[in-house]
Amino acid sequence: MVSDDTIFAIASGAGRAAIAVMRLSGPLCRDALAALCAGRVPEPRHAGLRRLRDADDAVLDQAMVLWLPGPGTYTGEASAELYLHGGRAVGDGVSMALVALGLRPAEPGEFTRRAFLNGRMDLVEAEAVHDLISAETEAQRRQALRQLDGELGCVYREWSDRLRFMLAQQEALIDFPDEDLPPAVEAELASTLDSLRTAIAAHLNDARRGEKLREGLVFAITGPPNVGKSSLINALAERDVAIVSPSPGTTRDALETRIVLGGVPVTLVDTAGLRETEDEIEAEGVRRALARAEDADLVIEVTVSSVAMTKLEYSNRLLVFNKSDLGHPTPQGAIAVSALTGAGLDELRDCLAAAARGLTETSGPPPLTRARHRAALLEALDRLNAAAETTLPELRGEDLRLALRAIGRITGHVGVEQILDTLFRQFCIGK
Ligand code: GDP
Repeated sequence: MVSDDTIFAIASGAGRAAIAVMRLSGPLCRDALAALCAGRVPEPRHAGLRRLRDADDAVLDQAMVLWLPGPGTYTGEASAELYLHGGRAVGDGVSMALVALGLRPAEPGEFTRRAFLNGRMDLVEAEAVHDLISAETEAQRRQALRQLDGELGCVYREWSDRLRFMLAQQEALIDFPDEDLPPAVEAELASTLDSLRTAIAAHLNDARRGEKLREGLVFAITGPPNVGKSSLINALAERDVAIVSPSPGTTRDALETRIVLGGVPVTLVDTAGLRETEDEIEAEGVRRALARAEDADLVIEVTVSSVAMTKLEYSNRLLVFNKSDLGHPTPQGAIAVSALTGAGLDELRDCLAAAARGLTETSGPPPLTRARHRAALLEALDRLNAAAETTLPELRGEDLRLALRAIGRITGHVGVEQILDTLFRQFCIGK
C-alpha cells in the first residue's frame, strides 16, 4: 500500500558538501513549499531561488527550489526538490521545519518503493536503480542501465504474454472439447510451449554471467609457500594487502582485496601456502584456502620452477611462474612474472582482465542478474516441463497458471508484498 504520508530525505551523499539535495514526495509537498518560501512557490518544473524560513520566520537557508506536480514524477506523486547548502546544520534545520509541517523522514528505498507501487516502474527496474547506485565499474553500470531501460523486464513480460495466450488456448480446449476449434490450436499450443521452454532454459544457462558481473568475481591465488603469492597480490593491488615474509607459512588465513579487472570487480584471495603441516592453525588456513579455490571463478596458480607443482586440478586455472628475475625457464602456457621487478605484470593483468570479461560478457538479450529471478524462472521452467508432459488438459492449465505466477513475481505483477520489504530495505535513504 502507498501511504498518504509526505516524506522527505537528503538524496545526495552524507557529510559536508557544497550542495545537498532534499527530496520531498507526497500530498503535502506544495503546502510545505509554500510555507517554507513564504507563499512564493516557483512555476512547476522551473527552478526558483528562495529564502527558506521556518514557522518562526527564521531564515534556514537560501536554496534553489523545484516544484514537481504529479503524476509525471519519479514517485508518481507530487514532489519537490530543495538544493540546500550542504552543511549538516542546514539539513537538520530544514528537516525540523518539514516535520513541524507534518512531513516525516523517508525510510530507506521509500521513494523507489512508491515509484513501483504507483506503477512508474516494475520491480526489475527498481532493482536496476539499486544496482546503478551500487555500480563500481563501467561494465556494472552498463548492465544496470540496460535493466533500468526496461530491456530485461520486457523479456519477462513477453514471456508472460505468451503464457497468457497459451492459457487462453488451453481454456478453450477444456471448455469446448467437442466444438469446432481449429485443429491447429492444440499443435500451436504445444509448439509455443516448446519454444518458451527453450528460451527460458537458454536464459538460465548463462554460466551466471549477469549475476557474476553484479556481485563481482573471485580469483584465488594458490601455490606452495614462499613462491611470492602475497608479493604478487600486493603488486596487482598496488598496495600492501598481504604480509610478505621470507619464512614459509606466514599467510595463515585467506586475505582478500578487491580490484577492477577489465571493468569487472574482482576479489583477489591470497590463500595460505598449500603444504602439509603439523601446525594446527596453519592446517586450518590450508583447508580454507582449498575451499576458497574450489569456489573461485579463476584459480591463479603461482609457482617457481624450483618448486614442484601442486597436484590440484581446477577447470579454470591460470599458471604463473614467479621470480622470473632469477632466470629460471618458464614452461609453455605459463606466464612468467617477477613480483619483485614488475616484469610480466602487464601481461598478467591483461590476461586476468580478459578472463574477467570472458566470465561476465554476454551478447544478445540482457542477462539474468539476480538469484531471485533465477529461482522464479527455475520454478516456471519446472511447471512448463510438467505442462509438456501431462496429457490431462486441466492439469496442464494449472501448470501454465503456476508458471505465469512465477514469472509475474519477477516483474512484481503478482504477490510481491513479502519481497518488497527485503528489496527496498537494501536501498539508501533518499532513493
Ligand atoms: P608467499 O608465501 O607465496 O605468499 O610468498 P611471499 O610473497 O611472502 O614471498 C616469499 C619470498 O619471496 C619473499 O622474501 C619475497 O620477497 C620473495 N619474492 C617474492 N616475489 C619475488 C620475485 O619475483 N623475485 C624474487 N627474487 N623474490 C621474490
